[in-house]
Amino acid sequence: MALTPSYFDEGMLIGVLTTQPLDRVLDYRAPEGGCHLGAFVEVPLGPRKVLGVVWGAGQGDYDISKVRSVIRVLDAAPMREELMAFLTRAGDYTLTPMPAMLRLATRAPGLGDPPSMRKIYRLGDTTPDRMTDARTRVLDVLRDMGGLSLTLKELAEAAGVTTSVVKGLAKQGVVREEDSPRDTPFPTLDPSYSGKALTEDQTSASATLRAAVATRAYGTTLLKGVTGSGKTEVYLEAVAECLSQGRQALVLLPEIALTAEFLTRVDARFGAKPAEWHSGVTITERRRVWKMVAQGGAQLVVGARSSLFLPFRDLGLIVVDEEHDTSYKQEDGVLYNARDMAVLRASICGAQVILASATPSLESWANADAGKYAKIELTSRFGAAVMPDMRAIDMRTEQLAGSSWISPTLQRAVQKRLDNKEQALLFINRRGYAPVTICRACGHQIGCDHCDARMVEHRFLKRLVCHQCGETKPLPNVCPHCAAEDKLAAVGPGVERLAEEAQSLFPDARLAVLSSDMFGSARAIKAEIETIASGGADLIIGTQLVAKGHNFPLLTLVGVIDADLGLQGSDLRAAERTFQLMRQVSGRAGRADKPGQALMQTYQPEHPVIRAILSGDEQDFWAAEAGERRAAGVPPYGRLAGIILSSTDVQEVFDLGNALARNDGPLRRVGAQVFGPAPAPIARVRGRHRVRLLVKAPKGTALQSALAEWVAPFRLKGELRMAIDIDPQSFY
Ligand code: ADP
Ligand code: ZN
Repeated sequence: MALTPSYFDEGMLIGVLTTQPLDRVLDYRAPEGGCHLGAFVEVPLGPRKVLGVVWGAGQGDYDISKVRSVIRVLDAAPMREELMAFLTRAGDYTLTPMPAMLRLATRAPGLGDPPSMRKIYRLGDTTPDRMTDARTRVLDVLRDMGGLSLTLKELAEAAGVTTSVVKGLAKQGVVREEDSPRDTPFPTLDPSYSGKALTEDQTSASATLRAAVATRAYGTTLLKGVTGSGKTEVYLEAVAECLSQGRQALVLLPEIALTAEFLTRVDARFGAKPAEWHSGVTITERRRVWKMVAQGGAQLVVGARSSLFLPFRDLGLIVVDEEHDTSYKQEDGVLYNARDMAVLRASICGAQVILASATPSLESWANADAGKYAKIELTSRFGAAVMPDMRAIDMRTEQLAGSSWISPTLQRAVQKRLDNKEQALLFINRRGYAPVTICRACGHQIGCDHCDARMVEHRFLKRLVCHQCGETKPLPNVCPHCAAEDKLAAVGPGVERLAEEAQSLFPDARLAVLSSDMFGSARAIKAEIETIASGGADLIIGTQLVAKGHNFPLLTLVGVIDADLGLQGSDLRAAERTFQLMRQVSGRAGRADKPGQALMQTYQPEHPVIRAILSGDEQDFWAAEAGERRAAGVPPYGRLAGIILSSTDVQEVFDLGNALARNDGPLRRVGAQVFGPAPAPIARVRGRHRVRLLVKAPKGTALQSALAEWVAPFRLKGELRMAIDIDPQSFY
């Protein structure tokens, strides 16, 4: 194979990958002054100018007289070969066309714009014509800044004056106004700023991780530890090691709501905050992060899964916190699992990966078991905290009135905590008020007009909401089917309805409801979580949002309203998910010095999963679960791919599904089987009919190439769409 040159002189034929949906790299000529491999460029495409990256030498198979020149090279560091290789391999793995992969890596607006400037203010060297209180305050603030500068807004705010006061001083030269690049480096993190004194367990874990990072080579470690054992403290030590080497680190969190707390901890450990990358970050800040990551002006990034595609200059460590969390799987657009892609990128750029969790996924458990990942365990909670006592409440023997869900046993337990001035948490994994709205006259259930899904009543919003497509409508008082008036009734509990019941049972308790849809921003969630942590509520009613990594030191009781909920699905991971969720939720109790208790309401206390959760016998649970999956030949002991076909025309989707199933030669040749087509569990979403096929193959099969060969002959005409989901996590 010919070596790809790293520089192309003016006029040389180059291949440019663009973000446009074309199935090939296009030939262009290098511009005046030449260009680097990986350079971000603007190229002509028909009448338009589009963004692209110099991907290699040109193919030369296009009419040479028609090849056009690159318009300009953008003012951004060229993409490193490591990232080019990562995009290529991630694209091959997920069967995603390269333009879509490139879009993932260029999600910052105005990449090619010249560095944008802003005005900053610092102390000048003249004195004002006359002093006022306001002017004194401005000068005091600037003196306190010790030579550092502020923007107009920051300075006016800090001094408590209007911006015209600052402008007035600037006119006289008392304050100097300067232009400064908007995209500034992030404050330096100091790895030796302040570490906590670690326990013996934590010390040895952190030493192992530091040693791994010091190798500057690829490796993955599963860091398993019960909630509150100090996993975060420990992996921050690995981050410290990485920063001391001058390399960059990335910490992935499953939920934006967790970043605020994490930033505070990074600040305490390293003396400054890291860069943030997620959907809540402003457009200008995103561009700054993207540029600084590429230039080395950001040492640590904390972010959502998409931060894996940032142009790091020298990435040395990726931490995937709560690695079992399902939100690491992107379920639309490019279907990828950030946990797996983290391992892929690290293996390409010589970085370490730490997968942290109290309840690892079976995938990671199996990889550690097979020796592919190293494994470190923290078995006890930090300080005096112990794991909660776990018990089932057998709902078959409880007396419960209709439309109520808190059993007498659970009520007594909550009352006891309230009497002792301790906190209790009631958990239900369902947003909204009620999952079903039914007409008592005709039995009609209100559904979404565009999806085969019931609308969920959200009383807080005073609307019905479709959890599939997000469509909302006001709650009618007339049945849309039989026109009966005032016959519509809510059926089943959601978090809002549970809060209503709790408030009537415990009228004096101060309630806090935590559900992801009830807050406008991550900051609002953070504020509510802080209020709860400091004792501003007695009784917390929450959804999955509370299960993820928050510290509530006063909480001593967790009541799970419906422990059976997750077991009902046909999902192959139903048992695993229930096990993880129940253990995560119950881990919220008893984090400080008071022991905690977890009570789980269930109609099937003998169910093996419920028994495993109660006994805490993890090793047994995983061994049994692994045994079943091995026998069934499903992940992590076999391979799966989901094919989702959709169209507005139901016949068209089934025809394509049947044609695929009939022509399965390429799959059979590698020992893979195809099941289906079958209507998807949610057979219509946003007006599109959905059909699924499932491909199952033995572990070690070269599945992607077989899949690609299989679907290649089928042209997607008109409204038809096909998505291929490698290692599917959800089957809706
Ligand atoms: P995990 O990530 O395993 O849930 P954390 O790292 O969040 O655990 O630790 C739980 C709590 O205990 C946090 O408030 C943390 O600051 C505290 N903690 C853990 N280890 C130590 C330590 N060695 N010294 C002081 N506080 C600690
Ligand atoms: Zn809908």
